[in-house]
Amino acid sequence: MNRARQAHAERVFLGLGTNMGDRLRHLRRGLFALVTHPEIQVRAVSRVYETEYVGPGSQDPYYNACVEIATTLAPCVLLAVLKGTEEREGRVPSSHLQPRPIDLDILLFGDRILNGERLQVPHKGMRDRAFVLEPLAELAGAEKFPDSGETIGTACAKIRRKSGPWVRPLAAAGLLPKRNDGPIAENSNKEDWRAAMAVHCR
Ligand code: ADP
Ligand code: MG
Repeated sequence: MNRARQAHAERVFLGLGTNMGDRLRHLRRGLFALVTHPEIQVRAVSRVYETEYVGPGSQDPYYNACVEIATTLAPCVLLAVLKGTEEREGRVPSSHLQPRPIDLDILLFGDRILNGERLQVPHKGMRDRAFVLEPLAELAGAEKFPDSGETIGTACAKIRRKSGPWVRPLAAAGLLPKRNDGPIAENSNKEDWRAAMAVHCR
C-alpha cells in the first residue's frame, strides 16, 4: 500500500483462532496471508493465547490472537478476503461451531457500526469473550466500542472479574519469528514482515 492510499486506510482489528492440528502454524499462515495482501498493512500483533473452547459439546482448546491492520478494502471485501483465506487453509465453509484450521473475524472496523446479514461489526459476542478481549486489549485497550463508548480495556477487566472459560498467554510462542519479537513499529515495512515470516509459513 503506497503512502497516498495509506492516508485513506481504516484501522481495523481482526481476531484469529484455530483448534486443529499445528495451531501455531495455522495462525502464522493466517497472518502471512494478511501480511502479503497488497491492500492490507499489518500494524501490530498480540501474543498468542491458549483458550478453553466455548460452545456446545466439547472441543480441543484454541489458540487465539488479534492483529491490527490498516486497509483500504471495504468491510465486505475484507470479509471475502478473510473467508477466502479460511478456505485456502482448509476450512470447510459450513464448519461453523466445528473445529477449524483457521477462523478470521473482523472485530472492529474504524468506528463503523454494521448490521448486515453477512457482516456485523463490532463482532457479535466479542464483548462476552475473554479469548477475544484479552489479546485485543493488548493492542487496543483504550479503543472504544463505537456503539456503547465502553473501552476494550474496561470490557476486558469486567470479564476478568467473572468466572469463565480459561485463557492463558503462551510464554514461549509468538506469531512472529524471533528476530521480530517485541513491539512492532507503527510503520513497519511490509517487505520486512514478509521476509521475516516467509520461512515460518511454508
Ligand atoms: P464464528 O466466527 O462466530 O465462529 P463463522 O466463522 O462460522 O462463525 O462465521 C459465520 C458467519 O459470520 C460468516 O459467514 C460471516 O458472514 C458472519 N459474520 C458476521 N459478522 C462477522 C464478522 N464481523 N467477522 C467475520 N464473520 C462475520
Ligand atoms: Mg468467523
